[in-house]
Amino acid sequence: MNTQETYPIGTPGQKWTEQDRLAWRASTQVKRLYSEEVLPRIEALKARFNVEQYGALSYDSERFPLFSIKSNDWNNGKPTVLISGGVHGYETSGVQGALLFADQHLEAYSKHFNIVIAPCVSPWGYETINRWNPLAIDPNRSFYADSPAEESAALQSLVASIGDVLVHFDLHETTDTDETEFRPALAARDGIEYEEDIIPDGFYTVGDSENPQADFQAAVIASVAKVTHIAPADNKGQIIGSDVVQQGVILYPMIKLGLCGGVSNCQYHTTTEVYPDSPKVTDEECNQAQVAAIIGGLDYVLSKI
Ligand SMILES: [Zn+2]
Repeated sequence: MNTQETYPIGTPGQKWTEQDRLAWRASTQVKRLYSEEVLPRIEALKARFNVEQYGALSYDSERFPLFSIKSNDWNNGKPTVLISGGVHGYETSGVQGALLFADQHLEAYSKHFNIVIAPCVSPWGYETINRWNPLAIDPNRSFYADSPAEESAALQSLVASIGDVLVHFDLHETTDTDETEFRPALAARDGIEYEEDIIPDGFYTVGDSENPQADFQAAVIASVAKVTHIAPADNKGQIIGSDVVQQGVILYPMIKLGLCGGVSNCQYHTTTEVYPDSPKVTDEECNQAQVAAIIGGLDYVLSKI
């Protein structure tokens, strides 16, 4: 199958024009509301933590304010942890898992760390269940200077304001729609052929090939394995086309690819990939898997500092 025959927008073999991008945007629909599913949960944390607005998306700044949740007793004597969710807005457990961690564990871990949580980096994508922003740009390929994605630029500004980061968790999902919708759309947008791949059944992480931190990744995997199953390698020893370097772990060059994982130059980074379409998991377990990843990673770092 190739996308030139199957994706409804664009001209086969050619990159999308501005008109194609507009057609794509017109094809998107609001499927759930940031104001109903996310903002009230952030609001509910205000009494306990430092909730600050760090930006707003210009598409509709009233509708899409961007918030961070900071731990109390912030001081320079403690190392700083960054948790980002919803860089891909459709990846629900990244958003809800970040908020669940804030509600249940932020207080306890703030004894040891300064923690800043950006629970929903891409609220437009959350509402329309999309990977891209309205300009058909993937925020998670746009973490570089003068970013074309305002979602990424806003998070970059937030990160620049908090000083050195020691640990960063970027919470994602790998979904069946990656294969049925988002990868075909990407191939169509870029005028290239779409090649099918297999979506792995289970949780995995993506580490930085320039700084893999194998023991840290292993601690994250071990913690998540108590909540949900870990993705096996395929028959080529890979997960989504990358070599599995240890159980449930693949590596990407975070900075080179403009990934959020490179946003802070931290020592310990992992990008979590929860699989929400497995018949073996519930939405709640997906959220808990994200929380388990954070806790496993933080406990490991605590044992090292
Ligand atoms: Zn993602």
